[in-house]
Amino acid sequence: MIEIKSFSSFFVANWKLNGDFKFIDQFIENLKVSNGNSKCVVICPTSIHLDYLRQKKNNFYVGAQNVSEHQGGAFTGEISCNALSELNIDFCILGHSERRHLFSETNVEVSLKSSRVIEYNIVPIVCIGETLEEKEKGKTNDVLSKQLDESIPHSSNSDNTIIAYEPVWAIGTGLTPTLEEINKTHKFIKNHNSKYANYKILYGGSVNAKNAKEIVSLSNVDGALIGGASLKSDVFTKIIAD
Ligand code: PEP
Repeated sequence: MIEIKSFSSFFVANWKLNGDFKFIDQFIENLKVSNGNSKCVVICPTSIHLDYLRQKKNNFYVGAQNVSEHQGGAFTGEISCNALSELNIDFCILGHSERRHLFSETNVEVSLKSSRVIEYNIVPIVCIGETLEEKEKGKTNDVLSKQLDESIPHSSNSDNTIIAYEPVWAIGTGLTPTLEEINKTHKFIKNHNSKYANYKILYGGSVNAKNAKEIVSLSNVDGALIGGASLKSDVFTKIIAD
C-alpha cells in the first residue's frame, strides 16, 4: 500500500464518465508533474481506461472511481478489488455523492467497499458531504457524523484511508464554502473521533486554478479532489504546481 504519511498533500483527479484513449494521450503529453515532491497526484479515469493510464504512469498514481464489495460471483457489470489489484491500482474513490445519489449507494455499502479495498492494499478515498438542504437546515455536522460513523470501516486508520469532504452543493456548481467554513468543517471531521485526528482530509467541490492554492493551504486541509478542472491538463498542471 502507498505510504500515505510520506506525502504532504494529495491532488486527486476524478474524471467521472469522461475521457477516451485519445484524450488520455493528449492529457499525459501536456501534464507536468514534478518528480520527487511531496505532493501525491492521483488520476481516476473510467474503469475501462485504468490499465491504459497506468501504462503511462509518470510521477502520478492511478485510482478507480468505484469497486464492488464482492470478491466475485454473479454480480453482472461489477469490478472487483482483485481486478484493481492485478492492475496495480493504488487508490479508489468510494461513496462519491454521485454514487450515493444517482446509484442509491448507502453508508453501509461504502463501508463494505472501503473495508474490501483496504484488504487489497488499495487506499479508499471515502467521500462525505451534505446537500444544500441539509446545510440550510444547519445539519451539516450531523450528516457528516453519521456518514463518518457508518461509511468508515473498523479496519480503517490514517495509514490506509483518506477522507474527502465534498459538499454536494459545491460539486460542479462553481460554488464553494468560504475558506473559514472549509477549515472549520475539516477541523470538525478531525475532532469527530480521536481516530480521525491524523487522517488526511481532502476538500472537493468546484476547486479550480484560482482557488486551489488558498484552499489547500488551510491548516486542516490536506489536498483536493477535483472534478471538472481536472479534465484540462493545463489547469490541472497549474493546480498541482501551486
Ligand atoms: C467531484 O466530482 O468530486 C468534484 C469535486 O467535482 P468538481 O470539481 O467539478 O466540483
